[in-house]
Amino acid sequence: MPARILDGSKIAQEIRSEVAADVKAMAGAGVRPGLAVVLVGHNPASEIYVRGKVKACEEVGTFSETITPPESATTDELLALIEGLNRRDEIDGILVQLPLPPQVDAKRVLLAVDPGKDVDGFHPMNVGFLSTQRPGLVPCTPAGVIEILKRSDVQIAGREAVVVGRSDIVGKPAAMLLLNANATVTVCHSKTHDLAGVCQRADILVAAIGRPGMVTRDFVKPGATVIDVGMNTVTDAAEFQRFFAGNAKREEAFRKKGSTLIGDVHPEVAEVAGALTPVPGGVGPLTIAMLMFNTMNAARMRRGSRETQLSPA
Ligand code: NAP
Repeated sequence: MPARILDGSKIAQEIRSEVAADVKAMAGAGVRPGLAVVLVGHNPASEIYVRGKVKACEEVGTFSETITPPESATTDELLALIEGLNRRDEIDGILVQLPLPPQVDAKRVLLAVDPGKDVDGFHPMNVGFLSTQRPGLVPCTPAGVIEILKRSDVQIAGREAVVVGRSDIVGKPAAMLLLNANATVTVCHSKTHDLAGVCQRADILVAAIGRPGMVTRDFVKPGATVIDVGMNTVTDAAEFQRFFAGNAKREEAFRKKGSTLIGDVHPEVAEVAGALTPVPGGVGPLTIAMLMFNTMNAARMRRGSRETQLSPA
């Protein structure tokens, strides 16, 4: 039986509606959450992402401001900019769109963001809160992974979870969130021996690698839930055929656009897994939804309210 497809777009829309309702309720108390997005220079991909974030703010009713320093911006200039945003009371969330130009010390800039406004959840203080299970801001994509699991009624507690990837923004926080939800967690990376064998143990397999279709059916225990975080663009026709030969809808789209988006999980995994997130339409839409949630939550926490929990364990 083919895998149940976990519809990330639908779940993201649910979360956005919940955030919009909370933002409306906050307006009654005279508070309008505000997000500042810092977009340095002209990176076309970053510009698209930022447009999506600003549009989402409009939809859920939060205020947003995009600040666009030039490509030549220095670390000191960005630090001064962040300091100014830290001081402004109407700004609840600060998002520095990555990557930053090479002359900028990105770590120093991210470290300068007030942890209470760190809606990306990258500040070491928030990393510490996550690992010690205290209220804080959680990185958006891994938080979205957990929301997909919980809202799709996939049991986490007591299950074997394997996360492939150990980046600070996806793999590590995803592993920590799964551990906090009482899974037994293994984290794999490029030096892991017998990767397929380790992955086969997983009841929940999270792929956050950045390699198109790397997770093939021999990585997957029959019936496992597979969460594909990967977002890779394929432009080569032969590579496209390797993944999507015979998929008429994809073939037509590829002919028109000259590229397609594929995750880290090979499409053949749908024949083995019990449940699977698609790409596109799986984890991707959750990232912006969780950013909206974090902005609203930051506004609450900064004003002394308790954090909101989306899907309690
Ligand atoms: P990253 O920083 O490049 O990390 C990739 C991880 O995969 C590293 O830990 C690396 O191991 C591991 N890895 C690479 N090749 C491997 C191999 N052959 N075997 C086992 N492990 C391997 O990437 P990232 O930022 O975490 O992103 C991962 C993917 O998620 C990318 O496709 C990215 O586009 C996507 N992503 C999607 C969203 C979304 O909104 N859906 C958000 C963020 C990222 P080492 O540590 O040993 O190098």
